[in-house]
Amino acid sequence: MTIPQPEPVLILGGGLMGLTIAHQLAREGKSVQILNRRKEEAAGWAAAGMLAPHAEGLQGPLLRLGQLSQRKIPIWIKQIEAESSIKCELIKSGIVVPFSSEIERDKHPNNAFAKTLNRTELEKEVPGISRTWGTALLFKEDGQIDNRRQLMRALRKACINRGVNIQEGITITNIIHENNILQGIQTKNLSGKIKNISGKKAVLCCGAWSNKIFPRMPIFPVKGQMFSIQGPKFSQKRIIFGPKTYVVPRQDGLIIIGATSEKYAGFEQGLTPNSYNWLLAGLESLLPNAIHLPQMEHWWGYRPCTPDEMPILGTSSIEGLWLATGHHRNGILLAAITSELISKLICEQSLNPEEAQLLGEFHWNRFQPIKR
Ligand SMILES: Cc1cc2nc3c(=O)[nH]c(=O)nc-3n(C[C@H](O)[C@H](O)[C@H](O)COP(=O)(O)OP(=O)(O)OC[C@H]3O[C@@H](n4cnc5c(N)ncnc54)[C@H](O)[C@@H]3O)c2cc1C
Repeated sequence: MTIPQPEPVLILGGGLMGLTIAHQLAREGKSVQILNRRKEEAAGWAAAGMLAPHAEGLQGPLLRLGQLSQRKIPIWIKQIEAESSIKCELIKSGIVVPFSSEIERDKHPNNAFAKTLNRTELEKEVPGISRTWGTALLFKEDGQIDNRRQLMRALRKACINRGVNIQEGITITNIIHENNILQGIQTKNLSGKIKNISGKKAVLCCGAWSNKIFPRMPIFPVKGQMFSIQGPKFSQKRIIFGPKTYVVPRQDGLIIIGATSEKYAGFEQGLTPNSYNWLLAGLESLLPNAIHLPQMEHWWGYRPCTPDEMPILGTSSIEGLWLATGHHRNGILLAAITSELISKLICEQSLNPEEAQLLGEFHWNRFQPIKR
């Protein structure tokens, strides 16, 4: 006698959110299937990995969501590391935001969370910083994860070790529903073969491409180009978050320089000389000597952005379809809380008042007032 297998929860998109939600659901004992078009295109591989709710100047519900996620990250990462045997290089490196004047510094919306640095202290925290900057804020609680080399690989391995079925080369082309109740999805494989997969529960996390499947969702791509240079080990400890460019030093001396924020590039592929020159000028304005360091990699990715630059989390207008997208420039920071909240909804676990309130703030109906 064959025992019927439970129908898996379908994860639509296997980038950062898809992998972390799948992993959390598998930890809860759910059967999970990820359907992903192309892993290399995920913004999860492109990001700088900053965990910067304070330095980025997040405010209101987004700051609260970011802070909540930041508190959960150490345990989240420990689980992923334990289940993948891959270290994710989570470091509370602190982020320095430099300013040319005290007036500018005092306008930062999160300066209450920072230590103020004068020029002498700034030179100590960031050796070699340009003389342009007379003062700074140091956000000691902010930090980083090495997403590009470690976290994404670790999440994938942790998912596989938990029995998550990951299918690559599958494009989701349609959501199938009857009377707004999910019935399944339509997919196309690399040879163009169309196949319907039945399912009563699915999570839409196709990043910047999410509205190609669910056109009523106001998601658009914001392209970001970046590059890396190799410095000596421990040459910099702090992340530097400049007004144009940021500099993220990893522990082995690799330094990530990012990133452009191109709202009108759409899904335009490739690197452009203008963006590279702009990044290089930004690096020079922060760390003049670093422009002579050997360059390692250049890459780009697409941030999933919404009109208010905040994520879309929770239920949709289709019963059985949940949304986890639109994380824009803070997806790495928000992955821990996103996976926990979405998993609680799917597993019908109770939410505490703060979680319920936050889900209300990030519901998609803030863009089109429909009945929930
Ligand atoms: C340059 C850059 C720098 C960033 N820096 C930071 C940072 O420092 N800190 C931070 O917190 N965040 C940062 N981010 C943001 C973060 O990377 C994103 O918010 C996050 O990766 C979004 O995750 P996601 O899973 O929604 O999308 P993605 O990671 O992009 O994954 C989407 C997945 O969906 C798949 N997909 C798309 N369409 C389909 C389809 N029709 N069928 C099947 N699969 C499909 C894609 O193949 C992809 O694998 C940065 C992003 C960029 C681009």
